Amino acid sequence: MRIRTGFGYDVHQLREGLPFWLGGIQIEHTHGALGHSDADVLIHVICDALLGAANLRDIGFHFPDTDPQYKGIDSKRLLAEVMRLLRERGYQIGNIDSTICLERPKVNPHISEMKRVLAEVMGIPEDDISIKATTTEKLGFVGRQEGVAAYATVLILQA
Ligand SMILES: [Zn+2]
Repeated sequence: MRIRTGFGYDVHQLREGLPFWLGGIQIEHTHGALGHSDADVLIHVICDALLGAANLRDIGFHFPDTDPQYKGIDSKRLLAEVMRLLRERGYQIGNIDSTICLERPKVNPHISEMKRVLAEVMGIPEDDISIKATTTEKLGFVGRQEGVAAYATVLILQA
């Protein structure tokens, strides 16, 4: 059994009036994340961590933001494709741990719904997906509510 780990980091700007997609669900807020896709920062870091663990480059390599077919795309579709790439190579998910850095709104009330949605997209148990949230104590671009950042680590297994 081969065990590999992967890591992902991503940032998106927050802009007034945009829909805010986070962890596969839409969150009620005055601002939303700006990006070529739906700008779901949590899904992007999970994709990057999975791709990194399998040494398959990164999300921008597979889904370039210069390609019009990915404009406004639901990031859940990107995650499903990343899972397909890993399964094709015989990888299984061990577990995922992630942290969202956001000043407002509060993420905690939405975490169980995010876990439910992501587990369904990935075809793995909710228990294998950990989502945590933190503010940055009003410091930096997250603290000024100019952006949202996220980190994820994953463990994958190959029989
Ligand atoms: Zn992103």
